[in-house]
Amino acid sequence: MIRRTASRFGVMADVHANLQALETVLEHFESEGIREIWCLGDVAGYGGEPEACVELVRERCAGTVRGNHDVALVEPRFRAGFNPHARAAIERQAALVSDAARDWLAGLPPVIELGDVMLLHGSAIDPDGFPYVLGRVDAARELEAFDARWGFYGHTHVPAAWRRDVDGRTEALELSGPQLEIGPPARYLVNPGAVGQPRDGDPRAACAVFDRESTRLTIARLDYDVSAAQDAIRRARMPEIEAERLAEGR
Ligand code: ZN
Repeated sequence: MIRRTASRFGVMADVHANLQALETVLEHFESEGIREIWCLGDVAGYGGEPEACVELVRERCAGTVRGNHDVALVEPRFRAGFNPHARAAIERQAALVSDAARDWLAGLPPVIELGDVMLLHGSAIDPDGFPYVLGRVDAARELEAFDARWGFYGHTHVPAAWRRDVDGRTEALELSGPQLEIGPPARYLVNPGAVGQPRDGDPRAACAVFDRESTRLTIARLDYDVSAAQDAIRRARMPEIEAERLAEGR
């Protein structure tokens, strides 16, 4: 039997151990009546509360794929490609988390396929290499690499939506409105933005709700307690830059 998503579900990415942002996003899903939430990876990395975030994501999400920071927490050799502050943060987190959290991170799948929906962290072409989908050409290649109608990814920390029409043309969709129609016969690749470390200049936490019946996608931006998240980063003795960037959304 093919696993499928609920007709209406929440999707979120890049929690990055930011408990305040995660709680805010979960409250949003709850207020929207969302019972099924999917997580696109990078629960670990950068933030001050990896253990609590792993626990909460485990408890509340229907499924989670692995991100590059999740892999790096478990496998030290994977940290070689990280910049110095990202490496320092993941080393610190590796010392902070329980064996149970580590085992859970180690067991995350690279991709979750749910019939016409596919979930992954960075790239369908190279799910373990984590290249970035940064522009139209990247998105077009990705949309050729999987068959599902709707693909969801994270990793860039920037909300985005790409549409591939029946002629094989790929275009970026404008995200300025509150809702997007992402219906057949075209196929779509959607990034809901980052929960715990947005990088599009907007410090608010990001997540998305997709209603398959109406094919309406809604990307939400939510104010959360940034200074409490910064305090947690400092308490955990993470690099200061991880605290500062949260206020700027960079
Ligand atoms: Zn990330």
